Amino acid sequence: MWLLALAILSINPFSKVLNIDDKGRPLVRIGLATGVGEVLVSGSGLVLRDPDGSMKVAGAGEWKVRLVSSEPGTARWWVGVSYTDRDQVDGYVVNERGFVMNLGGMMLDLRRRIVSLGPYSSRREALRVLGQQKKLNEYAFLYSDVVQRPEGIFEARSSSSTVRGRALAFTALRGVTVKGKGFSGTYPGTVYVLLDIRGRLVVVNELPLETYVRGILPGELFPSAPMEALKAQAIAARGQVLSKIGARHLGDPYHLCASVHCQVYKGLASVHSRTSSAVKKTTGLVLVDSHGHPVDTVYSAACGGHTEAAHRVWDGPVVPYLTGRFDLTGRRPALNLTRERDIRTFIMSPRYRGACSRKGVYRWTVRIPLSFMDALVRKLGAGRKFRRMRVLSRGNSGRIMELLITGDGGDTVLHGELTIRRRLGGLKSSMFVWDRTRDALILHGGGYGHGVGMCQWGAIGRARAGWDYRRILKFYYPGSRLVRIY
Ligand SMILES: [Zn+2]
Ligand SMILES: [Zn+2]
Repeated sequence: MWLLALAILSINPFSKVLNIDDKGRPLVRIGLATGVGEVLVSGSGLVLRDPDGSMKVAGAGEWKVRLVSSEPGTARWWVGVSYTDRDQVDGYVVNERGFVMNLGGMMLDLRRRIVSLGPYSSRREALRVLGQQKKLNEYAFLYSDVVQRPEGIFEARSSSSTVRGRALAFTALRGVTVKGKGFSGTYPGTVYVLLDIRGRLVVVNELPLETYVRGILPGELFPSAPMEALKAQAIAARGQVLSKIGARHLGDPYHLCASVHCQVYKGLASVHSRTSSAVKKTTGLVLVDSHGHPVDTVYSAACGGHTEAAHRVWDGPVVPYLTGRFDLTGRRPALNLTRERDIRTFIMSPRYRGACSRKGVYRWTVRIPLSFMDALVRKLGAGRKFRRMRVLSRGNSGRIMELLITGDGGDTVLHGELTIRRRLGGLKSSMFVWDRTRDALILHGGGYGHGVGMCQWGAIGRARAGWDYRRILKFYYPGSRLVRIY
């Protein structure tokens, strides 16, 4: 009887601790779809398992899976606004989430402190608060703690048999094919059909971390990139997966979702031989900081000649290896990019060649009609006519972090590089200066993305210049070192 109980425990889907397979490799759970009414499951040598019991059914053909009945669980909801290393932040609750686990002799510390508002007893109330916070900070997010798990019964039906269970698990020789409304794909490892906190059907794929990294890498960097850049990217992607576990989807029955929110994942459909080779050659390699903690290996497309500081972008603690540095092929210039005069020189002068020098990415120009700015002023409640804008602060790379917009009805401040990019019509980055003409603002900008951590075009440039992946990673995450965790 206790063996049975263990089987149930090992798939407590709301636990964020990673399961380990029989070869000692960590397994990650990816949420593929939520709220789908009915799914079709097939695969060669498909095995259907009811994880509540020991039943095994070797199923040929296609299985139709649906939810027979369910009771939602209960949760407490929070709105996260940033991360911190402090115990207390005035006016907020500081919640510690995540876990510590031993992986290959290394203590993987995936705990973090979230600066939060709440708790709220309903999702609706939390969503309302999230909406207010998003106006100020695009990085605000919703999370929850499960108080009581949902309950339900699933039914899987093939042409010859029917299986019922509180959760279902499918495995197949060459991947499990799942089709539902709005999604379909073939997935390695195990495909679970589970309940989310609201009592809805969720499709979850559990697979080895390495296999997952193989699946997502082609979406992170194009497979024809130099091999050393692909290897650096594989290690950075692996690190990103680890650092997101226990920080995202805290109230969901999986670690990460399969959309852009976490990382686009399409199962076996997207693997490519060159990116898979880069993953294989770096199997189990993870970057750690001076304390032995996994490095938060963030990256973006192009820094524009200077990488940005993490704490300026995400409003968290200072991260020693993510404070920003020049990413140039030549000498380090004596410029302070937080100053208006210096950032203008840096962007406008052709003298400064970035490792990420690429047409349309390293430097760009955008024209914003004043009529667009008038509309923005109205949206922000600062009157009807745009008067002017002024930079209140820039990050270390020169990305604007606070922008004062003045309309004929008053002032508004846009906070954060992502908010500024989105409000101004979807800019590549907030590293820009501008000139005003009679009817428009002409923006002269640099870089693509938030600019924190590894610069992907820079990594490509450096790989082409003969750098190996170790040197590339050391450059973009200074003070870090590589360890093999399995
Ligand atoms: Zn997600
Ligand atoms: Zn760069």
